[in-house]
Amino acid sequence: MDAQALVLELKKIAGEDAVRSDEPMAAHTTFQIGGPADVFVEPRTEQAVCATFMLCRQADVPVRVLGLGSDLLVADAGLRCVVVRLAENFATIERQGNVLQVQAGASNADVAQVACAAGLAGYEFASGIPGTIGGAAIMNAGAYGGEFKDVAVALRCLTPTGEVVDVSAEEAAWSYRHSMMDAAGYVVLAATLRLTSDNPAVIQERMDDLARRRAEKQPLDMPSAGSTFKRPEGHFVGKLVQEAGLRGVRVGGAQVSEKHTGFLVNAGDATAADVCALIELVQERVYEHTGVQLEPEVRRWGFEDEER
Ligand SMILES: Cc1cc2nc3c(=O)[nH]c(=O)nc-3n(C[C@H](O)[C@H](O)[C@H](O)COP(=O)(O)OP(=O)(O)OC[C@H]3O[C@@H](n4cnc5c(N)ncnc54)[C@H](O)[C@@H]3O)c2cc1C
Repeated sequence: MDAQALVLELKKIAGEDAVRSDEPMAAHTTFQIGGPADVFVEPRTEQAVCATFMLCRQADVPVRVLGLGSDLLVADAGLRCVVVRLAENFATIERQGNVLQVQAGASNADVAQVACAAGLAGYEFASGIPGTIGGAAIMNAGAYGGEFKDVAVALRCLTPTGEVVDVSAEEAAWSYRHSMMDAAGYVVLAATLRLTSDNPAVIQERMDDLARRRAEKQPLDMPSAGSTFKRPEGHFVGKLVQEAGLRGVRVGGAQVSEKHTGFLVNAGDATAADVCALIELVQERVYEHTGVQLEPEVRRWGFEDEER
């Protein structure tokens, strides 16, 4: 199937206005970096999500699923594939007692806010993680002592062979920033979260406190993808980077944050190549200085040496 025919078929599945060509990924990543994706789709229903993936797989066209792009570095040359974005268009949140049924595109902030208004506690930890439920599920997002696995009881997923399956918490095999779904190439469609009853004012106060702590420590006024490196056992990345004398160091428009040295930020017109060069520089200097090998946490799309 040629590119034009693919776009026509995708428009039949997802709707005329839900499919675009040459979509700049800089507009869909919190780093505000990344060249164009050949085809970009934002389906609105589970049926359309599944049909989109199946069409791409049958046509042997590479396809990727995107949430809010808050853990991604996309190459300057862009992506020769179909990007399926599950965010605002696929974001219903339904309450049944202490349980929330949430579509994958709902943002953590919205889920936390709906839970709070309903007097449901347990998702406060994620209120400031700027991604979707799908992104949180795939990598067991966590903050301030809470992790996605603490509240998720089941997921609904699309498998690479086109089956829609229910995945229990046990099957999800969540560990630090990892899950079975990630390893197996599942698309997360929805999650079931079990929360506990509490006073909305008290829940809101906990979220406000976490927001204050984030704003104090993190460079939230600059584009980034959060912590750039995974936390090495027994160390804090920020401290290692600072001790290696790298606070504020720049490569092109990419910079080690002055405020939190575990964050690399886009200090203005950074390219993906700048960020990659800075990642390598930080890895080298930290290794020379401490013997600790830092491993990127941010996922890299469209690079020759991409691992996942
Ligand atoms: C300022 C800032 C602070 C942050 N703080 C934290 C923090 O405290 N804790 C933390 O864990 N993370 C943090 N992050 C990183 C990021 O927000 C999380 O990793 C988040 O879970 C990513 O979700 P996303 O929707 O943005 O995913 P994306 O960045 O869009 O995608 C990331 C990966 O998830 C996959 N994915 C997305 N949606 C789905 C889906 N529906 N099905 C299958 N795969 C999917 C993508 O294919 C990709 O591999 C922070 C980021 C920023 C910018």
